[in-house]
Amino acid sequence: MNTVGHFINGSTTDAAERTQDVFNPATGAVTKQVAIAGKATVEEAIAAAQEAFKSWRNTQPAKRARIMFKFKQLLEDNAEKICALIGEEHGKISHDAMGELTRGIDNVEFACSAPHMLKGEHSRNVGPDIDSWSEMQPLGVVAGITPFNFPAMVPLWMFPLAIVCGNTFVLKPSERDPSCSLLLAQLLQEAGLPDGVFNVVNGDKVAVDTLLTDPRVEAVSFVGSTPIAEYVYATATAHGKRCQALGGAKNHAIIMPDADMDNAVAALTGAAFGSSGERCMALSVAVCVGDEAADTFIDKMSTAMQDLKVGACSDSSNDFGPLITEAHMHKVNGYIASAAEQGATIVVDGRNPTVAGFESGFFVGGTLIDHVKAGMTCYEEEIFGPVLLVVRADSMEQAMQLINDHEYGNGTCIFTRDGEAARYFSDNILVGMVGINVPLPVPVAYHSFGGWKRSLFGDLGTYGPDGVRFYTKRKTITQRWPSSGVREGAQFSFPSN
Ligand code: NAD
Repeated sequence: MNTVGHFINGSTTDAAERTQDVFNPATGAVTKQVAIAGKATVEEAIAAAQEAFKSWRNTQPAKRARIMFKFKQLLEDNAEKICALIGEEHGKISHDAMGELTRGIDNVEFACSAPHMLKGEHSRNVGPDIDSWSEMQPLGVVAGITPFNFPAMVPLWMFPLAIVCGNTFVLKPSERDPSCSLLLAQLLQEAGLPDGVFNVVNGDKVAVDTLLTDPRVEAVSFVGSTPIAEYVYATATAHGKRCQALGGAKNHAIIMPDADMDNAVAALTGAAFGSSGERCMALSVAVCVGDEAADTFIDKMSTAMQDLKVGACSDSSNDFGPLITEAHMHKVNGYIASAAEQGATIVVDGRNPTVAGFESGFFVGGTLIDHVKAGMTCYEEEIFGPVLLVVRADSMEQAMQLINDHEYGNGTCIFTRDGEAARYFSDNILVGMVGINVPLPVPVAYHSFGGWKRSLFGDLGTYGPDGVRFYTKRKTITQRWPSSGVREGAQFSFPSN
């Protein structure tokens, strides 16, 4: 059986303390093994990155950008291969995999503007014959730790920008779908990236802990669940590193009584069930204002859900695929059961769907649950499955209070025809990414992505302008060239104009 290894200093290796099964989630079969790196393997990758940094930090930004231009072309040329790999290990349908890859490529395009982004700031004559400028210097070796649900896009949020800023990188992808990152590494090498600038180590907590504590790693970008994000942030910062750790979510959509209901239902069908709800921006809670809006919404949504097609990635007419593991499938089914036990109404039950030919796959069908209330387990926790909850609120204020009281603050949206209500909502809601009649307000690559509250630990979001700030440190240089010798004696008062 094929073992998925690591990519260190320009070569693949499958050094492993042990191996772990990789599944095809549509069939439930083990298809590969992934090498789980021990401390020594991770240290080898860090050492390679540290050595490569010596010359990479001084490589002209325009040359670094040219490699990214080539890389973007190679990503496009190999798009089908990348999407097939995502389908095999993650289960994502090809149209959805292509969507994630395209959003990832957007970040490579942004990274191509490095020479412009790294220009810095200059002021002439800040004092008599004194000039001053600020430049953005790279940090050194940076690490990226990524989740299973976007095996191409989330790594692409991180390393293209980190690399064009002059850093070297060690990526620790999810061990559940480990192959995509290795293909990205090979394409970068083909694009001309020097050995050691980008390294991939597959592994688990041992690899992560090594990256978080090794003094040679200057910064850590993490994306994953909130408990691990919090742990990563606390550990990395306690070891003196810069850290951004993006966590989980519970994204609410407010459906106002004046909303275009057909539009809201169509938008939410994609946003709740797309990618089996395994998206940190999935809209998993519809808060309907007024019983009339709720009844209409439930009626139209349950009708729309009759057309949902769940199945394997091999059939591109499917809307969404299986969940990532059998354990996760049981967990999602458990949330549905708990909702019924705690007093909610299961309107559409997606447990144990029939998927002909894929009886052992990890499938859950689209599920709709009404009369959900704050305090229920299904409401408080992130389900990460194709489950849409409906909460009934008496007013917009009450709906907004629910969102503001929730521990997560990643994304949210409002469906309304009232501009004043939409403006009030976007001004006052305690969430980092807001949509107005837009269900998945994922910022484009030249803005930045980041939630609030327990959806992001750290001060800067990922990619875009925040990404450039995260992957560089500012140095300000103040310079004078006296024309002949020392022209002033010692000055004891604080220098000022
Ligand atoms: P996860 O937290 O289980 O794993 C993320 C990474 O952390 C993986 O690389 C994994 O190997 C590592 N890891 C897991 N347990 C660890 C431990 N105990 N110690 C150290 N490292 C550990 O997340 P996941 O299940 O892969 O991904 C789904 C989660 O990611 C969801 O909560 C989702 O909302 C979140 N997510 C957030 C965003 C965002 O931008 N905020 C984007 C995508 C996914």
